[in-house]
Amino acid sequence: MSALVKLDQLTKHFDLGRGQRVHAVDGISLEIKRGETLGLVGESGSGKSSLGKTLMGLHDKTSGNVIYDGEELPRHYRAADFQRMASRMQMIFQDPYSSLNPRMTVGEIISEGLRGKPLSKAQKQQAVGEWLEKVGLNAAHASRYPHEFSGGQRQRIGIARALIMSPEFVVCDEPISALDVSVQAQVVNLLNDLKTSMGLTMLFIAHDLSMVRYISDRMAVMYLGALVELGNARDVYFQPRHPYTEVLIASNPEPDPVTERERASTTIQGEIPSPVNVPAGCRFAGRCPKVMPVCREQTPALLPLVDEDRLVACHLYSQ
Ligand code: SF4
Repeated sequence: MSALVKLDQLTKHFDLGRGQRVHAVDGISLEIKRGETLGLVGESGSGKSSLGKTLMGLHDKTSGNVIYDGEELPRHYRAADFQRMASRMQMIFQDPYSSLNPRMTVGEIISEGLRGKPLSKAQKQQAVGEWLEKVGLNAAHASRYPHEFSGGQRQRIGIARALIMSPEFVVCDEPISALDVSVQAQVVNLLNDLKTSMGLTMLFIAHDLSMVRYISDRMAVMYLGALVELGNARDVYFQPRHPYTEVLIASNPEPDPVTERERASTTIQGEIPSPVNVPAGCRFAGRCPKVMPVCREQTPALLPLVDEDRLVACHLYSQ
């Protein structure tokens, strides 16, 4: 599979003034292959959402590049750039409550992206009705307002709004974390079905690793703005190599209550450090159960493991 999206040393820092900067995304390079789902995981504050938004042009890039289908995307997006890319890249947001305009009907919300397309009003209404059915709602829902729907239904409306544009690439930014556990699997299954039927390429950002493992082909693990592990999703989940991935998976609750009761659960020790004061050497050294003297002095590079289709940034493997 060829790469549809390439990140080349992508960096996003937020300037706080007085020489202080939040290192949200710190020189990340990776490829998202055409037709694959890449899962992106990490604790809150690891920079996952900032990476998704910088990739989409919602944040200006501090440095580095996003190369989309061979084209280098602008550092600073203008309105024309958003318009041009909207039919190719779309984003599904975390919070289905705040991402839908309460004053617009569902039909107006979903058809917003079709504005400017050479379609009659009747054709747009038909497209909205078809998309409402595709996401498991009803064409008659087009005349209602967002507050009349449950959280899961609102996320389905958000999915219809993004996919009516027929994009080839979608960033799903924590699309299930604001939903009841009972509807999370339904929304993930819907996304998976649409991905298959539309041949989408997806970046699926979440902190529920079991859900990411289920939906993703490959999994990338972020810690404090940097990538620490990348590989086949099942391999990373069942045989993590980086100490951070190990503890992240061990601390992730299993959806099956029986498995959850039986497994030896652990919690990650300590707090993720401030992205304003990024530690020298390995960023995980202050919390790592396997820390060595070298870890506090040298930053480990993200390197391929011998005989494995896996990249890991850890001195345990670079000795
Ligand atoms: Fe732990 Fe050292 Fe590996 Fe960092 S480089 S994860 S501190 S062993």
